[in-house]
Amino acid sequence: MEIETCHVLVLPYPSQGHINPLLQFAKRLVSKGLKATIATTHHTLSSISVPSVTVEPISDGQDDHGGLVKPQSEDLFLESFKSNGSRTLAQLINKYKTTKYPFTFIVYDSFLTWALEVAQQNGILGGPFFTNSAAVISIYTRIHCGKLRLPLRLEDGPLVVVDGVPPLDMEDLSSFLKAPESCPAYLKMNLNQCSNLDKANWIFGNTFQSLEAEVVKGIREKWPAKLIGPMVPSTYLDGRIKGDKGYGASLWKPLDHECTKWLETKPKNSVVYTSFGSMVSLSQLEMEEIAWGLKESNFNFIWVVRDSERHKLPKEFLDLITQNQKAGMIVNWCNQLEMLAHDSVGCFVTHCGWNSTLEGLSLGVPMIGIPKWADQFTNAKFIKDVWCVGVRAKMDDGENGIVKRDELILSLNEVMNKEGKGLKIRKNATKWRELAKESISEGGSSDKAIDEFVAALKSKFKIKDLYSY
Ligand code: UDP
Repeated sequence: MEIETCHVLVLPYPSQGHINPLLQFAKRLVSKGLKATIATTHHTLSSISVPSVTVEPISDGQDDHGGLVKPQSEDLFLESFKSNGSRTLAQLINKYKTTKYPFTFIVYDSFLTWALEVAQQNGILGGPFFTNSAAVISIYTRIHCGKLRLPLRLEDGPLVVVDGVPPLDMEDLSSFLKAPESCPAYLKMNLNQCSNLDKANWIFGNTFQSLEAEVVKGIREKWPAKLIGPMVPSTYLDGRIKGDKGYGASLWKPLDHECTKWLETKPKNSVVYTSFGSMVSLSQLEMEEIAWGLKESNFNFIWVVRDSERHKLPKEFLDLITQNQKAGMIVNWCNQLEMLAHDSVGCFVTHCGWNSTLEGLSLGVPMIGIPKWADQFTNAKFIKDVWCVGVRAKMDDGENGIVKRDELILSLNEVMNKEGKGLKIRKNATKWRELAKESISEGGSSDKAIDEFVAALKSKFKIKDLYSY
């Protein structure tokens, strides 16, 4: 049978921060003449809607519960996903085998190393897509190959793990490394990402050459990835994918129109956009402090507070916002990119998830980091000290380390200032925005890396190029 075009199967880990960049990569591959299908779990299936990409279900073993019943533990969920996911992924590959478009390659989330075995058992190629920064991967790789041992201890001074960047302190490391007992299943999954890299046909990293050049130099041998980022919708960068204004995946219904309408009424750079992403859950005390910090700062703000978190907001604060919607808006979910791209937004208070970090950089928005979990601490360090596009709000000395209102107000005044440090940060943010654009625009480092992959796939399968672009 003649193969009409290369068909790539894309398999994300089923959370918002992983679906977004992998789906974006699928769209990018389609724009380069490949065909792409995304395989995802039943309860995330309906959250994805992109005309150019087919969506197919696979099972995580939780299908009947419609995603409502939480797995008993992360460990059990990951085991269940591995066994059910492997079986149903193989079935999906077989389903397409006899069509005009059999799969030729699987791009799988680097968390899901088992997908490579499934690909190879079924005679197709595969490669992991890493959704962390190269710096974070560098640390995990060093632990994986025994160069660093857990638990990490810094009694002898800072731990220099990344070449060419300021030394990292304990507060800059992933929570999984600082407290390995806090989430052993996720720690294992993160360390495991490099376990079968030598068998992969290609490795993709969602970062870009100029952003992490020094880091990448130091780990190229262990992690010979092609850097293809930032995987942010095209409209905000090179504009070559027409109408590509959002990722095309949303686990919550976004409140877009109202937010944009509200932003239209605000002066340039006057609004603080605040979001802690899709997973972080703040303590009630910290929610109260952030609430009053935003209010007392007197800046306009939009704060994404998922409905499940809303009960932690002080009633008095909510009453004030409702009475005076001119100053602030609380929303369950929105299109973050549209907010960041809006002229009225002057700064981004962020938990420093890797996608949010790349989005802040790509759109040139100064950031205030309030990291809470996982790799967010390392990203915050780079935001503040390496790319110099923001500050990190300091935690208090209490047992649980929270950011108090006065500290948030201090950070906001620093970053929103039109002079001094604020101005320097804004200039740097503009510089990184241009470099991000350059990397994914025609002939840029990431664009070339993607072209290389596409050309390699096509030549391997001697496919006629049906598309002119
Ligand atoms: N996001 C969004 N709307 C919101 C909040 C977040 O679209 O109201 C998106 C954001 O643009 C990013 C993703 O959700 O692409 C969150 O990913 P990230 O890696 O920053 O954090 P995570 O949710 O994985 O902790």
